Amino acid sequence: MVEGEVTRGENLRVPPWPIWDEEEERNLLSVLRSGKWGLGGSWVQKFEREFAAYHGCQYGIGCANGTVALKVALRAVGVKSGDEVITSPYTFVSTTSVIIELGAIPVFADINLETLTIEPSEVERRLSEKTRAILPVHIGGCPAEMEGLIEVSRGRDIRIVEDAAQAHGSEYRNRRVGGLGDAGCFSFQSNKLVTAGEGGVITTNDAETAALSRSLINCGRTPTEDWYESVVLGYNYRMSEFAAAVLSAQMKRLDDHMRRREESFRELSILCRGLDGFEWLEVPSYVTRHSHYFIPLTINRNHFGSIDKRRLVSEIVSRGIPCSTGYTVPLSRHRPIVEYLMSRDYAQQELTNVETACRDVIWFPHTILLLHPSEMYHVYRVLRDVSNNNT
Ligand SMILES: *Cc1c(COP(=O)(O)O)cnc(C)c1O
Repeated sequence: MVEGEVTRGENLRVPPWPIWDEEEERNLLSVLRSGKWGLGGSWVQKFEREFAAYHGCQYGIGCANGTVALKVALRAVGVKSGDEVITSPYTFVSTTSVIIELGAIPVFADINLETLTIEPSEVERRLSEKTRAILPVHIGGCPAEMEGLIEVSRGRDIRIVEDAAQAHGSEYRNRRVGGLGDAGCFSFQSNKLVTAGEGGVITTNDAETAALSRSLINCGRTPTEDWYESVVLGYNYRMSEFAAAVLSAQMKRLDDHMRRREESFRELSILCRGLDGFEWLEVPSYVTRHSHYFIPLTINRNHFGSIDKRRLVSEIVSRGIPCSTGYTVPLSRHRPIVEYLMSRDYAQQELTNVETACRDVIWFPHTILLLHPSEMYHVYRVLRDVSNNNT
């Protein structure tokens, strides 16, 4: 690029998502022609085994989506009506809505502004005799501080369920997410890093949690009872054979995509550390592999004053780089959640860091990291332009 030339990202060919090839096509046709589109096929079982093993887990239970994976996992580890579940206010609404659907109480712990995940000391402050589970979110692919959370739960009857919907393949101290707590939940919704349009999986190393989850997603059936006799009240949240066939093909691409994202991320981080207008969030040292579902960037308020992040995002987008505002309102202030908590006589909590994150953190999508590392320079140039033109 010639120095002085107007910086534009339009020449960058950010790949459309999802990515697929003949393998997905072949697998789909194979399911179609077999006539076994649901129960009785073998793709779901095969995928469950592969996905669980990849994440260091003994059991995988495929299901309809990430939301029901969370609901089923919480129920399977014993969360009941009236129990408290400590969770993050900086996440997709499902993480909280499933707690409410079970009649339990979401208790929000504030986040760490470096990782955007819940802070163990904040979780500890919110423990009560009603706390039944902790539901950390590996947001943007950055694992939560799991050892700290496990320490907080030690000696108490508290289960940990990981929301790993954005963290396929991420590692905490060389261990893959999904098997770090009592259960893990993944999503295969169309934006996610492994996708079949819709889909989810529950991972666990606990045989009982696995068996109950399996039963809950399959109408309360168990391997031994009569087909039409339920032991627990379940749902039909089964994964279809078509989804599993696509996911099996998608998994073969995950390692390569992760390697490419990590390479481009390293390049981008070197460039962006020197920006005036934005602060780069460093990957914490406990993260040994990062899915980079989104790349967070914090607006430097000393530089930009009180400018609305929506304006900066549209400046970046108009220069050809995909970017989004990400979460703009903490879940602790979403109206239906506030109303639910009030109806249960739970007071509103003050959460300073998540307010800051919702005001100041913007996201780049993972797809920009599939560009060549040398193309990260253009992303950096756009950010530098926006920095220089908005003071
Ligand atoms: C996508 C997502 C979910 C929900 O998954 P679905 O498959 O869309 O139901 C839950 N939690 C987080 C953090 C997510 O990103």
